[in-house]
Amino acid sequence: MNYGASGEHTMQLDRTDTKILRALQEDARRSFRELARRVGVSVPTVSAHVANLERLGVLSGYHATIDPEKLRQTRLFLILRCRSREADRVGRVLAKLPEVRWTIRTAESRLIAEVVLRSTKGINPFLERVRSLDGVVSFEHHVAAKRFKEAPRAILSGPLSTTVACFECGQAIEGEPITLRLEGRIHYLCCPSCEQLYKERYFRIKAAAQAG
Ligand SMILES: [Zn+2]
Repeated sequence: MNYGASGEHTMQLDRTDTKILRALQEDARRSFRELARRVGVSVPTVSAHVANLERLGVLSGYHATIDPEKLRQTRLFLILRCRSREADRVGRVLAKLPEVRWTIRTAESRLIAEVVLRSTKGINPFLERVRSLDGVVSFEHHVAAKRFKEAPRAILSGPLSTTVACFECGQAIEGEPITLRLEGRIHYLCCPSCEQLYKERYFRIKAAAQAG
C-alpha cells in the first residue's frame, strides 16, 4: 500500500481502469459493449470498473466538447493576488461566477482562472466585478488571441493512483481503508463506525426499494 506525504491512503488503479479511462476520455459516447471489446474484458467487468471509478470521483462526468471560439466567444485568463490567507475564500467566490470555467489556487496562493464571455463587450464589466471582490489585492488578465492546443486534462499513461474518500463521511481516508464488497461493488470506509452506519443505510435503502 502507498501513503501520500499527508498520510492519506492512495489507491493504485489497475490496467483495466487505465484503458477504460483512456477510451472514455477519447470518446465518452462509447458503449460498455464497445469498451469491453477495446479493453479485452467482459461487459459486466467494464460496468463494475466504471461504477467504481465514478464512486471514487476519478470519472467525474461525461461531456460534449463545445468550442467557445467557434461560437465567437471571448476567453480570458486571470491571475489574482489575494490578501494573505484569503485565497481560498476568494477562490470559492470566483468559482460561483458562471463566466469562470475553472479556477485553481497555486502553492504561492495565487488564483488562476479561465473566463469565457459572450463577446469582447463583456470584458470591462467582468474585470470591474473582479476588482470589487473583497480580498483581491491585484490581478492581471490576458485575452486569448490564438489557440494552439486544447486537450482533455488527465494524462492517462503509466501507473495511476487516487486518494480515497470515505463513502460514509466523505473525509480522506488515512491509513488502510475498510473495504466492503456489496453486490460485486467495492465500498471504502474510514473506520468501523462509518462502516456500521454505511451498512445500515445501504440495507435500509435496499429494503425500501424492494418494498416500494
Ligand atoms: Zn468515514
